[in-house]
Amino acid sequence: MTQQPVAVVHLTAPAARVITTELRTADHTTETGGILLGHHTRDTVTVHHAGTPGPAAVRTPTYFLRDLAHAQALADAAFAADSSVWVGEWHTHPTGRPVPSARDTATYRDLLDDPELGFHSVIAVIFAPRQGRWTGAAWTCHGRRVAPVELTISPVDGPRREDPPPRPRRFRPPRRPAPASPHDEPSIAARSPQPGRTHPR
Ligand SMILES: [Zn+2]
Repeated sequence: MTQQPVAVVHLTAPAARVITTELRTADHTTETGGILLGHHTRDTVTVHHAGTPGPAAVRTPTYFLRDLAHAQALADAAFAADSSVWVGEWHTHPTGRPVPSARDTATYRDLLDDPELGFHSVIAVIFAPRQGRWTGAAWTCHGRRVAPVELTISPVDGPRREDPPPRPRRFRPPRRPAPASPHDEPSIAARSPQPGRTHPR
């Protein structure tokens, strides 16, 4: 299996469902998030499993750090289920933009620098509120560089399991403002990368 620099991050429906549920139930005075597990094939990372924060996660208004034991248990289960491996993490910026902070970037570089972890690239999917819904953006950290990449998300409320799997839907930024009912059932959307923005702070 050849691993190229990541161009696309895809959240499968099971992973998107975990994130949607956490976004619906979490206390958003602090950040929340979890690990992402899946496969990196060619230029695409497919996320099959997304984690929740876990009881020992560090959650502040501007920072999130996974609960290591909780993450390890999920990683073990995911590897046993479909050989998924740790590819990165997701978290929220409840009052900011879906762009990695300097502290986020430092965290990703520490992961990349740890030879035992064996990361090719670290994936970050960051969700921030935008026009009444949580909008996600995907980033890849590879070498010393953090760059936006395309994010695609399978519909969470698709057909039942016995039906054929839904085809991934490619999200685009909304052309019109979202309906003015931000407290409806939250859904998640993906933001397209901004081409000019390759060196976020
Ligand atoms: Zn952050």
